[in-house]
Amino acid sequence: MLESLDHPAWFAAIGSAAAMTVIVAVRYVLSSGGFALATRSVRPGLYDKLGPQIGAEIRWSLLSAAIYGVPAGIVAWGWRERGWTRIYTDIGEFPLWWLPVSLFVYMFAHDTWFYWTHRWMHAPRPFRIAHAVHHASRPPTAWAAMAFHPIEALTGAVVIPALVFLVPIHIAVLGLVLTIMTIMGVTNHMGWEIFPRALVHSRLGQWLITASHHQLHHEKYRCNYGLYFRVWDRICGTDAGLAKPGWDGR
Ligand SMILES: [Zn+2]
Ligand SMILES: [Zn+2]
Repeated sequence: MLESLDHPAWFAAIGSAAAMTVIVAVRYVLSSGGFALATRSVRPGLYDKLGPQIGAEIRWSLLSAAIYGVPAGIVAWGWRERGWTRIYTDIGEFPLWWLPVSLFVYMFAHDTWFYWTHRWMHAPRPFRIAHAVHHASRPPTAWAAMAFHPIEALTGAVVIPALVFLVPIHIAVLGLVLTIMTIMGVTNHMGWEIFPRALVHSRLGQWLITASHHQLHHEKYRCNYGLYFRVWDRICGTDAGLAKPGWDGR
């Protein structure tokens, strides 16, 4: 396949990878920056002594933006120019019920991949090499959303670009998946709970991951490994519940 690509195609693919890197970096700065600003007014002083840590979080995150942007940009180019992937734009191509189901399938597949790679990265050697960077955020801030060592970033960056080859998804649902991924990545690290208590402590909340759950992972390390859902943590006995009441000062 690769030999059949003419030079302009390669330039276009590289250009798409570069453009996507810029898009991911801008998305990071706007989303993390936006929630960091919100933190200033909702929890004044929460990040006051964390200046050097935030600097490191931003540097690692911008490096991660390239690692996420390159495969996504190449796949986006292949989708546009070569008909790669199972992304579809005609909403009638699959039954309407597939729209919400595909959203759930993508989130559950991503969550499953994340849970098991995350648990693996808590073994001593992978932790030291790859995952310690993320846990240097103590406590995490909104800027830690993409603060990963390149090895960890790579494990995250391949998920959606691989799934689009396997599972049909409407372009708008894919946009929703990426939006949820971005917002949850930021808010889970923000240091305070943005979702109402009524949801976090509800029956549904027992299966969903928000900041109250992920904060405890950053405190205790060996529990609460999931991304969106508490299913794998519950099945595997690694769910330690939520951070103690009042953890975020409310
Ligand atoms: Zn984290
Ligand atoms: Zn971890």
